[in-house]
Amino acid sequence: MMPRFTKVQTKVLVAQIHQLRHEWDTPGILAAVEACDGKGFPYGDTVKAAVNLAVNPEARTPGLLPLPGTHWQGTRSVAGRLAPVMCPDHPDHEAGGCPQCIDEAARDVDTRVAEVRAALRVAARLRPPIPPGGHPKTEDQLPREAVA
Ligand SMILES: [Zn+2]
Repeated sequence: MMPRFTKVQTKVLVAQIHQLRHEWDTPGILAAVEACDGKGFPYGDTVKAAVNLAVNPEARTPGLLPLPGTHWQGTRSVAGRLAPVMCPDHPDHEAGGCPQCIDEAARDVDTRVAEVRAALRVAARLRPPIPPGGHPKTEDQLPREAVA
């Protein structure tokens, strides 16, 4: 996505946040602001969220800015948005849309299909139940002397 925030908007916001949190380095703040821009968050909401985050002493890093959290409360576009439920096995992805879990599930189906196919191949080689009176004998099952 092309940047939508102007250079001035970004520069002013980064400087403002750095004024609020001197221990946050400007490259880190810049990366967080650009991530918000990349996600399509409106500039005004990003300013509010960034200030909310910066004045929260529990926030340890500007890297939290583009992530869901209480710092977005009170913004129009993301007001009340809930933190997504993340995949318990792959915390980088949201649950329900985790590409790794989807891949694994697809692999499981392939594995099961292969197992069923193998079982069917084995079953095809199995002889049917012996009918009363036994199977009719084929030539190769007759005693040698009977064939000769
Ligand atoms: Zn997963």
